[in-house]
Amino acid sequence: MKFLFTDLDGTFLGGTRQDQLRLLEALNTHKIGLVYVSGRSHQRIFPAIDSGELPRPKAVIGDVGTSLWAGDGQVLSPGYETLMQSLWGDGQLRLRTELNDFSSRGLREQPLFGPYRYSLYFDDPETARQASKRIQALGFDSLLSDNQYLDALPPGVHKGFAVNWLLNYWGLDPNNVLVAGDTLNDLAMLQLPMPAVVVANAEPLLKKALSGAHNNPQLLFASQAGAAGIHEALQQMGWTET
Ligand SMILES: [Mg+2]
Repeated sequence: MKFLFTDLDGTFLGGTRQDQLRLLEALNTHKIGLVYVSGRSHQRIFPAIDSGELPRPKAVIGDVGTSLWAGDGQVLSPGYETLMQSLWGDGQLRLRTELNDFSSRGLREQPLFGPYRYSLYFDDPETARQASKRIQALGFDSLLSDNQYLDALPPGVHKGFAVNWLLNYWGLDPNNVLVAGDTLNDLAMLQLPMPAVVVANAEPLLKKALSGAHNNPQLLFASQAGAAGIHEALQQMGWTET
């Protein structure tokens, strides 16, 4: 079975409603399984699935790779939870304290995020870079994305880590999985050695980071935005041929 592992905002949800419906139809017709790989937390994904606004996927990687749920919203693997717990420890508590003095420089906590990350908004990139350094000095990873999000994550964990983990868990052949994204928090999964598409409306810094000669040879730069860009990739790969 083939799978699409896709970011939500700007990617699967990018483009027009018509583009989204056309992509969904192609996924259904060609029996391509769907997995969301999002920065959103549980409360910002599952209500949309339960209401029918988003199609129900086989699984959801949420919280920038630090959460993993089945399509019904339950924890997919207790083993993944245990792994996140061991890598993260009391990270939220420590980071909230250690980054407190950045609040006067415009760093603000995001309203909702899962238990194995600490997530902020920033206005000033230089402030975000300084906060990133402090996060890394404490032994966590930091990730700037979409020129507004600053995430502290367990060391080595990002969307790419989680995608790779799920591929192994399910025993999928990476050549049968297309990953899709549009901002810097998608970089790690778009660099995995497997088919990938960066949609046309992607953040310029992501396109730049992906344009090096050493990069993923199976990566496609779509000429269309959002869902249309994903559809374009499926067509180019021959996944939508009958
Ligand atoms: Mg996105």
